[in-house]
Amino acid sequence: MESQKKHPRTFSFELFPPKTAEGMEKLRATWKQLMQLKPKFFSVTYGAGGSTQDRTLGAVLEIQKDGCDAAPHISCIGSSRADIKATLDLYKSKGIRHIVALRGDLPSGTASAGELRYASELVEFIRQTSGDHFHIEVACYPEFHPQARSAHDDLKAFKRKVDAGANAALTQYFFNADAYFRFIDDCEAMGVTLPIVPGIMPIANFSQLARFSDACGAEIPRWLRLKLQSYSDDTASIRSLGLDVITDLCDRMLSQGAPGLHFYTMNQAGLTSTIWQRLGL
Ligand code: FAD
Repeated sequence: MESQKKHPRTFSFELFPPKTAEGMEKLRATWKQLMQLKPKFFSVTYGAGGSTQDRTLGAVLEIQKDGCDAAPHISCIGSSRADIKATLDLYKSKGIRHIVALRGDLPSGTASAGELRYASELVEFIRQTSGDHFHIEVACYPEFHPQARSAHDDLKAFKRKVDAGANAALTQYFFNADAYFRFIDDCEAMGVTLPIVPGIMPIANFSQLARFSDACGAEIPRWLRLKLQSYSDDTASIRSLGLDVITDLCDRMLSQGAPGLHFYTMNQAGLTSTIWQRLGL
């Protein structure tokens, strides 16, 4: 963990752009509440192929107007180089200097994969077309990406993004702390020392968490899965156990030298704020 201890701690909150005006109104209330915790930045997700581009940018600009840094995500799958360049130019014209660069996942039924196949090619393209204008965050996977040919290949894919010019990384969420510590050891062995901030998923609902985790390759430990499952629709017990487990996980991350935390808020302020308070941040 030596590579990580030298970085200042960065706390950030991820939001997604809602489809309706009502959802947007709720999101405003969420970020205003979370802003009181003084995060370093918010990040706002982006639908593959640019489907949320206007809403992503709209939310980012409003958050910035409210006084906090906000980073739009950008994905390359299903897009041409010209589309991506246009999005980067738009972000630049709005004064945005911080982005999260991803491959994205193709919605089922989408025909074209686009011109850039991997996030490393996107980072390279951003550096080619925009120089050092953007601070670029990329994704990484302590329990490995579900489509990776092997753990070793996935580590090499991460290193490619770093070599292409990423400044920092946000991890997929995980519940096994050791997976993160091992991942950092592996990165250090490859000479990768940029900040790798653990992604944290508060637990609100078991069926949704199980679905997400199966899709993204985040393992829910057996004991936790069975306990959460046994609570059925007793939301209070699920949240209570979830708060204990996630607060412990965050505490372990920070006490061992992780350079901050990135919360997948799911557009809800409550659980993230409670974890924050319990950590005494
Ligand atoms: P990559 O780094 O390109 O990796 C994808 C896969 O390809 C991996 O299995 C990797 O091992 C493999 N690979 C990479 N390079 C090569 C190569 N040269 N040869 C062979 N294999 C290779 N999705 C969205 O659509 N919108 C979002 O806003 C969004 N935000 C996210 C934020 C975070 C912090 C995280 C962790 C994920 C986010 N995602 C988002 C999901 C992400 O798009 C998916 O996980 C996607 O499947 C992979 O994206 P990536 O950028 O990690 O891809």
